[in-house]
Amino acid sequence: MEEDCLFCKIIKGEVPSTKVYEDEYVYAFKDINPAATVHILIIPKKHISSLEDLKNGDEEYVWKIHEAMQKISKAQGVSESGYRIIVNCGKDAGQEVMHLHYHFLAGEKFGDKIV
Ligand code: 5GP
Ligand code: ZN
Repeated sequence: MEEDCLFCKIIKGEVPSTKVYEDEYVYAFKDINPAATVHILIIPKKHISSLEDLKNGDEEYVWKIHEAMQKISKAQGVSESGYRIIVNCGKDAGQEVMHLHYHFLAGEKFGDKIV
């Protein structure tokens, strides 16, 4: 956990959030500024700054994030209709919060749009 990390504070409950899913490895909550009908952020409970900081040994977090996607898609009723996952990594991608997070977007057709 990092003292000054917003998402670490959300995991610890120091900053309020609307929880969607939680297990030993993963926390998922609604994005405060949704870019789609369904916009959920899925984060590892360990502080990993970005995709660039994933290390050997983090495999369980990576799998659990992906398992959470499957569970969330079923719970949201979009496992058939589909969803889009976005991970911004670094400045050029526009990563604002330096705690690895997967954007889970659904509930509409995204077509050819990148985001
Ligand atoms: P990034 O641009 O880093 O990929 O995405 C950061 C996301 O975190 C944005 O979509 C933003 O709306 C969301 N966000 C930023 N601060 C908060 C917050 O305090 N609570 C919640 N639920 N989402 C946040
Ligand atoms: Zn963090």
